[in-house]
Amino acid sequence: MKITDVRWMLLKGPRPHDLGGEVGTSRKMLVRVDTDAGIYGLGECDNFPGIRDGLGYCRAVMLGRDPLELRPMWSEIVYGTVAPHPPSSNFAGRDFPSEFGPCAPMSPTATPDGPPVWAVSGVEIALVDLIGKALKTPAYNVFGGAFRKEVPVYLDRSSPSDQENLDAWRKMASDAAMEGFGRMKFDIDYMAPRHVKDVWNRTISAAQMIQIVKRLEAAREAAGDEVEIAVDGHMQYNLPDSVRLAQELAHLKLAWVEDLMPITNVDAYRQLRAKSPSPVCVGEMFTMEQFRTFVDHEAADILHPDVMFCGGMHELHRIGLYADSHYLPLAMHGNGGALATIAAAHVAAATRNFLSLEYHFIEARWIGEFVRREGLPLFRNGCVPVSDAPGLGVEIDERVCRENLAPGEKMF
Ligand SMILES: [Mg+2]
Repeated sequence: MKITDVRWMLLKGPRPHDLGGEVGTSRKMLVRVDTDAGIYGLGECDNFPGIRDGLGYCRAVMLGRDPLELRPMWSEIVYGTVAPHPPSSNFAGRDFPSEFGPCAPMSPTATPDGPPVWAVSGVEIALVDLIGKALKTPAYNVFGGAFRKEVPVYLDRSSPSDQENLDAWRKMASDAAMEGFGRMKFDIDYMAPRHVKDVWNRTISAAQMIQIVKRLEAAREAAGDEVEIAVDGHMQYNLPDSVRLAQELAHLKLAWVEDLMPITNVDAYRQLRAKSPSPVCVGEMFTMEQFRTFVDHEAADILHPDVMFCGGMHELHRIGLYADSHYLPLAMHGNGGALATIAAAHVAAATRNFLSLEYHFIEARWIGEFVRREGLPLFRNGCVPVSDAPGLGVEIDERVCRENLAPGEKMF
């Protein structure tokens, strides 16, 4: 079996309830890998700057190769090889994107991050789907089998449009609980923006702190004790105010406090973790190397990778295994649409220490509907169920994709 094409198409559509309750736009980049056996795989990556160059690079490296060589191809793209290099590194005549050439013979000491890793994440998801189809087994079996077939999710709630109204917070939390979500997350930076005194200095004013506490108390009261609640700081705050915030929220028994500070200083996180009454969660943009640093320096309680940013499904699983060997739980960030969510759910099914996967799809329905699974909804009873169909078990929904196809894009 040989790879005959790697293609992508961008979807763009409305997001009626974005950060802070604002109206926004969602963009979803779908990937398709074809083979000469007629089997194809589907993946998803984020539409970040440089992503098309990264996808073009993956295409040039992978054309004509066996999709079952997934890890060697992935490793060649991300880490390069050592001279004299494997025969696969002979790129003579290959069609690389015009502005750059092959870098497979680059130094293996390079530190991969950014567009190449985001792109290869989406292609890797498609390869796992394809391999599952070729082996006639669901994707979770590629990772050793399922511990669970119903994968718990947490609903990312940001904030209501009327942030000053405590009843709006109560309604937001109770609505989510009524819809069956047993876990939800709120964005600290959008909880009381009218009480921010300085948008640059990374502080939380007294008035802002008091309002954040009151609004989360209202949400907790409305959601009830059975619901897990987490908060996300979007990497905005300084160390002393992050510590103060974590301590002020201790009585709410939060599932975690996420990315309260910028995530580049492992020592600051080590200090926060030592003083925070709630588990400290980091890593939505991290690769394995960055998680290893945080775990080895005792700077995080919960790891929070995203299948679209960490390198794909195998890397997500590897991060989970590393966390488990330190008795740490694995949560999963979810910036993607339905396809990335289902891919993450298959890894979550096969990861013992898995906690919860981020879910976004109650306001912008189309991002949860551009792929479908026969007879199986994306969400039920607080979970994303995984199917026993080969691979990811998904098909493109032609109608939803056509309706949301970005200008200038071609359908698969
Ligand atoms: Mg986050």
